[in-house]
Amino acid sequence: MSGQTKVKLATAWLDGCSGCHMSLLDVDELLVALVERVELVYGPLVDTPEYPEAVDVALVEGAVSSIGDQKLAQTIRSKTRILISLGDCAVTSNVPSMRNTIPVKKLLERLYIEGADAAPAIPTDGVPALLRHAVPLAEVVKVDIHIPGCPPAPGAIAHVLTSLLDGKKPELAGLVKFG
Ligand code: SF4
Repeated sequence: MSGQTKVKLATAWLDGCSGCHMSLLDVDELLVALVERVELVYGPLVDTPEYPEAVDVALVEGAVSSIGDQKLAQTIRSKTRILISLGDCAVTSNVPSMRNTIPVKKLLERLYIEGADAAPAIPTDGVPALLRHAVPLAEVVKVDIHIPGCPPAPGAIAHVLTSLLDGKKPELAGLVKFG
């Protein structure tokens, strides 16, 4: 993945807390090198409404919890060469899966009807429907590289990105752990 053309990098935020994106921003001096070699084409850090074509690498944070997450994951997969699940929520479904033992209808009623101080109603307008379970990204689409951690260590993210930019296979042993 070396050469003059900038690598097209996307990031996505599914059902996560943004902590994985914070870790991405915490790679310190690598950010300077990335500016030279990478074009950030999609994600919460840039203002691009549609997922672009021919993305080289995508880092995806969060579990797949809603129809919207599912569609975005499928779009990303169809337009991306190397798809990376970033963090425990994407890798195992982690925190979002804590709701999996509760039926969706019961969960929503507890939160928005029984738990409401005023105007009890389950929001539907512009809110993608929840899937029955929050699931790992790899249950929905093929994932090429997993970076576990909650959040994943900035050093692990930096290693993966620099390895890919240098055309090498990332070796994450010793750099990552769950939790
Ligand atoms: S893995 Fe941890 S830091 Fe990342 S989105 Fe999930 S809870 Fe947040």
